[in-house]
Amino acid sequence: MSKFVYNFDEGNKDMRALLGGKGANLAEMTNIGLNVPFGFTITTEACNNFYKNDEKISESLIEEIKTHIKDCESKLQKSFSSTENPLLFSVRSGAVISMPGMMDTILNLGLNDKSVIGLANSTNNERFAFDSYRRFIQMFSDVAMEIPKIYFENELDRIKEEKNVKMDTELTAEDLKILVEKFKKIFKQETGKEFPQDPIEQLIIAIKAVFKSWMNPRAIVYRKLNGIDDSLGTAVNVQAMVFGNMGNTSGTGVAFSRNPSTGENKLFGEFLMNAQGEDVVAGIRTPESIEKLKEIMPEVYDEFLRIAKTLEKHYKDMQDLEFTIEKGKLYLLQTRNGKRTTDAAINVAVDLVNEGLISKEEAILRVEPKSLDQLLHPIFNAEMMKNTPILARGLAASPGAASGKVYFHSKDIVDAVKSGEKVILVRQETSPEDIEGMVEAEGILTARGGMTSHAAVVARGMGKCCIAGASEIKVDEIERVIKTQNEVIKEGDVISLDGTTGIIYKGEIEKLNPKLTGNFKIFMDWVNEIKILGVRANADNPRDAKQAVEFGAEGIGLCRTEHMFFDKDRIPVVRQMILSENTEQRVEALEKIRPMQEKDFYDIYSVLKEKSVTIRLLDPPLHEFLPYEDEDIKNLAKEMNIDESHLRDVITDLEEVNPMLGHRGCRLAVTYPEIYRMQAKAIINAAIKAQKDLNISITPEIMIPLVGELEELKYVKREIVEEIEMTLKELNENIKYKIGTMIEIPRAALLADEIATEAEFFSYGTNDLTQMTFGFSRDDAGKFLNEYENKKIFDFNPFAKLDQKGVGKLVKMSFKLGRETNPHLHVGICGEHGGDPDTIEFLNSVGIDYVSCSPFRVPIARLAAAQAKIKQSK
Ligand code: PEP
Ligand code: MG
Repeated sequence: MSKFVYNFDEGNKDMRALLGGKGANLAEMTNIGLNVPFGFTITTEACNNFYKNDEKISESLIEEIKTHIKDCESKLQKSFSSTENPLLFSVRSGAVISMPGMMDTILNLGLNDKSVIGLANSTNNERFAFDSYRRFIQMFSDVAMEIPKIYFENELDRIKEEKNVKMDTELTAEDLKILVEKFKKIFKQETGKEFPQDPIEQLIIAIKAVFKSWMNPRAIVYRKLNGIDDSLGTAVNVQAMVFGNMGNTSGTGVAFSRNPSTGENKLFGEFLMNAQGEDVVAGIRTPESIEKLKEIMPEVYDEFLRIAKTLEKHYKDMQDLEFTIEKGKLYLLQTRNGKRTTDAAINVAVDLVNEGLISKEEAILRVEPKSLDQLLHPIFNAEMMKNTPILARGLAASPGAASGKVYFHSKDIVDAVKSGEKVILVRQETSPEDIEGMVEAEGILTARGGMTSHAAVVARGMGKCCIAGASEIKVDEIERVIKTQNEVIKEGDVISLDGTTGIIYKGEIEKLNPKLTGNFKIFMDWVNEIKILGVRANADNPRDAKQAVEFGAEGIGLCRTEHMFFDKDRIPVVRQMILSENTEQRVEALEKIRPMQEKDFYDIYSVLKEKSVTIRLLDPPLHEFLPYEDEDIKNLAKEMNIDESHLRDVITDLEEVNPMLGHRGCRLAVTYPEIYRMQAKAIINAAIKAQKDLNISITPEIMIPLVGELEELKYVKREIVEEIEMTLKELNENIKYKIGTMIEIPRAALLADEIATEAEFFSYGTNDLTQMTFGFSRDDAGKFLNEYENKKIFDFNPFAKLDQKGVGKLVKMSFKLGRETNPHLHVGICGEHGGDPDTIEFLNSVGIDYVSCSPFRVPIARLAAAQAKIKQSK
């Protein structure tokens, strides 16, 4: 018979798939001798069976659970239904990958009208017993039965008012007894049933609720966003209670072994004395910093520190711990690898290498490539920040800078982002229901909650700027306003958040690019030592080129020259060229463009110096440079002093039904070779000048787009070479140069062996190659691809992540064919896919030379390339 329940001493950390993350780690901690309250884990398989079994818990599972309760009873010398010294449990969900949106904890399960007396007697503390019972009724009702919490909170507030006290702790045992009766009444009103008195029944209901929470809409949204498989299921952890609310030598808290925002090697966390877990998270009482524990209970603090270090060494990673102190005795309730910002991830990884705990390779695998984005994005302009009024301060929960209009509801955030606004989500505190708004917002601000509140934890995970617990502000979600002492910020007003300092500003602040130094540099140097795949950038102006080099680009893989043509000072001459009636007129116009192009290339060479720059000759169809609005056509005719109807005729002539498959790329040069001749001459002139001025050596790389046939390439190449040779002769100079082609038409990929005989390099234009392999128009596919993803026809958008099966097959095959006829063929990719980590892993295995992507993705691509190499060697 299959086993669906494991005592903590039966599992280990490698059993995550079966026991969930929490269960596996509870088992591991138990087995290495830490003080973990005993309990058992019901497996993810049991959860899957629950769904197969029409959401029923089988009799055999109930029997198995009962056996494990007996184990706990004999181990702990307490009995589950005892009216003398009752065994109580906490019940928690525990998915394989920790997930917000899943069921919260239920504490004190097993209490009923009789055992509460037993608890009072055994602890000699009636107040504590009834406080535990009222908490249990409230949590059970809220979490397992979905009775709104507010009903219970209102009763609690009412009794505090009646008794004229402020704190829950000031209520007496008698008050709490009254409250228990009121809570039970609410339960009956809402469910039509008495509050269950049988502990086994309570437990089965709670376990069912955990299983059901796996399929609640919030959990489903979260899984979809994070690509987590629905079939994993969740485990349930049932653990003997220890009490943090047993008086002033008891308490509970959460702490990280290092700072999860910065990575600093220092305990970081918070705790509350005389409290149970939910008090810390709920923000009802403000927790104290873990530092304070050192003063209150120095021995417990030292022990906790020692355990945190032991667990770090054991897991070889920063840990996120939950603990309870019961009458001075420390218990561990959870450990897991702590979620952290990217900054912290890098600092921790570098420190762990320096501490000898992990290798550089392991450190590299620890940082998610896409998360580097967090570090690459701008910070506030300090000067402007000084002059912007401060609205309030809160906790610096997740670093970064964000400006945007404030909205108070997740749905409004989603709508505002759809209409192109930058927005900040403002809430009293966030809950898993806010997840979509949190994803879309630039930043998150909450008035309540600490560094471990939902907002703080989730925002850090997302790498999103967040200020939490800004108690100086009042957030009215119904009126949709933020109030400070003397200001009111309405929905739609702009504020700025500095997640690194916790300061909230009124109005917008300019952002600046970050500097990448310190551990980031060390880490990225390791990345470079390990990776084999080259990383270049797509850039067509000196500013982007400079950014790319700062981010570690080894060259430019794609300099699109058409962007230079669109410049407003140039477009008149470009149009003159297009409207030319014969070659002479065209050459005349092109001669005016040439000096400008020379300057463009010279400026880029000045930034890149001796690094490679692949310059692609003109690619788009010519009509893209002409106006199409009536008014603009009239104005242009006037400006150019030409007949308006002639202009209209030209525009009509150039119009295309399917421009992406029309007169573009090298087809332009077949018709008008003088265009590419001009560009080739400009490149050579610029390179020769830059070589001299800067005393460097440059090998220009000239790339011909949209080739599909060898003879086509030969023709265009002949024209270019002729022009270059003439230019060099005129100048009496010599320079080495390379001519290559893009592979972006399936036919070119199929005939790559032929094409490679005339090309010194290939660069895969996977944007066009994807378009033409699928037969999806790049410009139109956006309209329907979503539906493909929703209907699970595609797992991803093939314009963002390479379709390895189809387009990838062409890449692999053509790479092999090309190298067969030209063993020196240099090969890269410059489509959007060049910055996608999964695509990079694939291309690394194919063996191409480099990827090229937008400057901001260069560090991501470098890291992905190093990870690909490490995984391949493994
Ligand atoms: C491509 O097609 O992948 C490419 C890089 O060229 P463009 O996007 O300019 O067509
Ligand atoms: Mg292309």
